[in-house]
Amino acid sequence: MVITTWEEATLSYDHKTTKEKPFYEDFLSSWKPRVSYHFNEEVSRFHFGVRHPMKPFRLMLTDHLVLGYKLHECMDLYRPRRATREEILEFHDDAYIDFLQRVTPDNVKEFTKVFTKFNIGDDCPIFDGMYDYSSIYTGASLDASRKLINEQSDIAINWSGGLHHAKKFEASGFCYINDIVLGILNLLRYHPRVLYIDIDVHHGDGVQEAFYATDRVMTLSFHKYNGDYFPGTGNVDEIGSGVGKHYSLNVPLRDGIDDDSYIRLFKSIVEPVLTSYQPGAIVLQCGADSLGCDRLGCFNLNTKAHAECVRFVRSFNLPMMVVGGGGYTPRNVSRLWCLETSVCLDVELDSRLPASIPFVKYFAPDYSLFPNLSGKIDNKNSRKYLESVKTQVMEQLRYLNGAPSIQMQEVPPDLMGYDQETDCAMADERSDRTTDERDAEQEAKDGVRRGEQVE
Ligand SMILES: [Zn+2]
Repeated sequence: MVITTWEEATLSYDHKTTKEKPFYEDFLSSWKPRVSYHFNEEVSRFHFGVRHPMKPFRLMLTDHLVLGYKLHECMDLYRPRRATREEILEFHDDAYIDFLQRVTPDNVKEFTKVFTKFNIGDDCPIFDGMYDYSSIYTGASLDASRKLINEQSDIAINWSGGLHHAKKFEASGFCYINDIVLGILNLLRYHPRVLYIDIDVHHGDGVQEAFYATDRVMTLSFHKYNGDYFPGTGNVDEIGSGVGKHYSLNVPLRDGIDDDSYIRLFKSIVEPVLTSYQPGAIVLQCGADSLGCDRLGCFNLNTKAHAECVRFVRSFNLPMMVVGGGGYTPRNVSRLWCLETSVCLDVELDSRLPASIPFVKYFAPDYSLFPNLSGKIDNKNSRKYLESVKTQVMEQLRYLNGAPSIQMQEVPPDLMGYDQETDCAMADERSDRTTDERDAEQEAKDGVRRGEQVE
C-alpha cells in the first residue's frame, strides 16, 4: 500500500486539482506553437436537407469534444465575424455572389433559369440561410489567415472551413464559397509562397483551379481518382499551366488505401515538396471523408493515420492554417478533428472520450477516440502503383529546383489587385502590437501555459 504524506495529499490530490486535471497529457516540449481556434457555433445550425450527406451538426459535435477534453485551455479561441461581400468578391464573381445573396427557398422559382449556370441542384441545393452559412465559415478562414499574418498565431484552426470544390463562378460538391482560396489570397499579401496540402478523399479542384497558372501557390492533393469519382479531376498529369506549370501536384489513389501505405506515401512526397518549394506558410485541408467507414469515402484510414499527416506537416514549424472539408459520418469526423486539434497543440489525449459531453451516445459502442475504421474495403493500391505515382510527382519537383521564382526573397506586387486599405490596416495591426504583448509571448515561449490568455 502506498502511503501518501499530508503534503502530497494537499498538493496533488486535493479535490480542486483532481476536478480540474486536464484530460490531456502535455508533452512539455521546450517550444509550443501558439494555436488559435476559429469557430462561430452558428455555422452548425444550418441544414442542407434531411437526405443530404453534409451535416453542419458535425461541427458542433467536434466543438463538444474539443471542449470536453478541455483543449480550449491551451489555445486562443475566436468567434469570427462573417465574411463581407467585399471580402468574398476578392475571388468570386459578382453575379454569382449576387445570386447566392438573393435566392431563398421561398423565391426559388424566380431563379430556376440560372441554376445550371451556377451549378445548383442535388449536391448544392438552395437551403434556408445558405449565404449566411457560407459567409460564416469563410469569415473563420479569413480570421485564421489574419492571425497568422499578424503573427498572433503559429497554427490557426477552422474546422468549419475547407470547402475546396467551390469555383469562382459556381457552386460545386456541397461548397458555395471557397474559403481556402480566400484565406490563401490573404496569406499571399505577406508570404511569397504558400503550400496547399489536401487530404480529403476528393480532389481539391477548386483550389487547384484558382492557382493553376501561378507559382506563388503550390497545390498538392491526395485523393481517390479513377476519372469518374467526384469531381472527376486530379490525375497525375494535371501539373499547372504557364508560370504555374509544375506547381500543381496530384496524387491519384485507388480504393481502400491503408494507414501504412498512406502515411509512407504522404511523408515521402510532402518532405521533398517542402524542401524544394520552401513556402512561407502552409494551408492544410483535413477532409475527414478519407477515413474508413465514411458515408461517401472509399479509403481505409484510421483517425491516428490521418492525424499523423497533420503531425508530420506541423513538425516543419511553418505558419499553418488548418481547415476541415468533407466528412460524412459525423461521429468519426468529430473524433478526427478533435484529435487533430490535440496534434496541433502537441498534447496527448486519453483514448476514452469524456463521458460528460453532450451527445455522447453518438460514440457508442466504443466511446473511443480511435474507433476501428479499417479493413472494410479491399486495398486496390499495389506497392508498384504507389511507387509509380510517387515517381511521377517527384519528376515535377525536379523542374522546380533552381527555378528563378523560388529564389524570390521579397514580397512581390499583389497577385490580383488587392484592396490597399485592407493591406494598410493589416500593417497597422502588426505594428500596433504592444510591448506587453511581446512580453507575454516571451513568457509563453518560456513555458507559461497560454490557457490563461484564452479570449
Ligand atoms: Zn471530400
